Amino acid sequence: MATATTPTIGFIGLGNMGSGMTRNLQAAGFPLVVTDIRRESAAQILAGGAVWADTAADVAASSDMVITMLPTPRHVDDVVNGESGILAGIADGGTWIDMSTSVPDVAARVREHHSNRGLHILDAPVSGMSVGAAAGMLQIFVGGDADDVERVRPVLEAMGDPERILHVGSHGAGYAVKLMINQLWFSHLVATAEVLAVGARAGVDLAVLRDSLIASPANSTFVERDVLSILQHGDYDEGFAVALACKDLGLSADLAVSVGVEVPLSGLVKDLYQQARERYGEQAGEMTPFALYEDAIGRQLRL
Ligand code: NAD
Repeated sequence: MATATTPTIGFIGLGNMGSGMTRNLQAAGFPLVVTDIRRESAAQILAGGAVWADTAADVAASSDMVITMLPTPRHVDDVVNGESGILAGIADGGTWIDMSTSVPDVAARVREHHSNRGLHILDAPVSGMSVGAAAGMLQIFVGGDADDVERVRPVLEAMGDPERILHVGSHGAGYAVKLMINQLWFSHLVATAEVLAVGARAGVDLAVLRDSLIASPANSTFVERDVLSILQHGDYDEGFAVALACKDLGLSADLAVSVGVEVPLSGLVKDLYQQARERYGEQAGEMTPFALYEDAIGRQLRL
C-alpha cells in the first residue's frame, strides 16, 4: 500500500500495454498521474484513483518518475521533446523510463543535449504481450546505470515478473535485446507457418506433423506453445497489431544497418509482415502472416 515515501508515478500511453501496466502499479499502491491522447483510455484507471494531466509536461511536473509506453520512436520523441513534453515539466535530476519498443536515438539525444540537468534515463522495453501486462508478469530488459535500475526496481516489479527483470547493459541495451527477441520470434512464426503449410499440403496430418517437430531438434517455443493460439483457437493475437510488428521489424532493420550487419533473412520476414499488413489491415493481429500461408494452400491450419 502507498506510504508517504511511495513515489508518484507519471504514466504516458494507456493502450493495450499501458492500461494493464497502470492497473498493476495502482494495485501495488503507487499513486499515478496519467495522460494519453485518447482520454477515454484512462477511464478505468481514473476510477481507481489516478489523477489525469492534460500534457506530458504536467505529468512530469507532478510525479517522481515518468514512464512512457508509446507506439513508436516518433511518438516518444513528440512526448519527450514536444512543446508540452516531458522535458518541459521534469525537474532537474528527475527520472524517465521508456518502456516502449524503440531505438536508442531519442534518449541518446536527450542525454547529449540536456547533460547539465542530471536526468536519470532508462530504457526498459518489455515482452509478454497484453496478457502479460494485465497479469503483471512482463519480462523487462533494462538498459542504463545500475544504481538507477536498483532504485526503480520496486516500480518495475509491480509490472513484471521479478525473476525476469534483467539489467542487460548500458543505455540502449534494453532496446537492442527487445528488438532481437522480436526479430527472432517473428522469424519463428514465418518459418513455422511455412513448414506446417507445406507438410499439411503434402498430406501429413497436422497434429502428427507438429508432434514430430516437437520431438525433433527443430522444436521451438513457437511450435510447442505459441502457434496453438492459431491452431486451436484461430486467434492471431489482435492484442498486438501487425502494424506495430512491422514497426518493430523496421526498427530492428535500422539497428542492423546502424551497426553494419547485413540481415537478408530479417528482410524477408519484414516483407512478409508488410504483405500481411496490406492484405488484412493495420489492426490485424501480429500472427496474421501465418494466414498468408493458409490462404496460399486454401485451408486454415487447425488441430
Ligand atoms: P497501443 O497503440 O495500444 O498504445 C499506445 C498508446 O499511446 C495509445 O493509447 C495512444 O493513444 C497513446 N499515444 C500515442 N501518442 C501519444 C501522445 N503523443 N501522447 C500521449 N499518448 C499517446 O500500443 P501498445 O500495444 O500498448 O504498445 C506500446 C508499446 O509497447 C509499443 O512500442 C509496442 O511495440 C510495445 N509492446 C507491445 C506489446 C503488445 O503485445 N501489445 C508487447 C510488447 C511490447
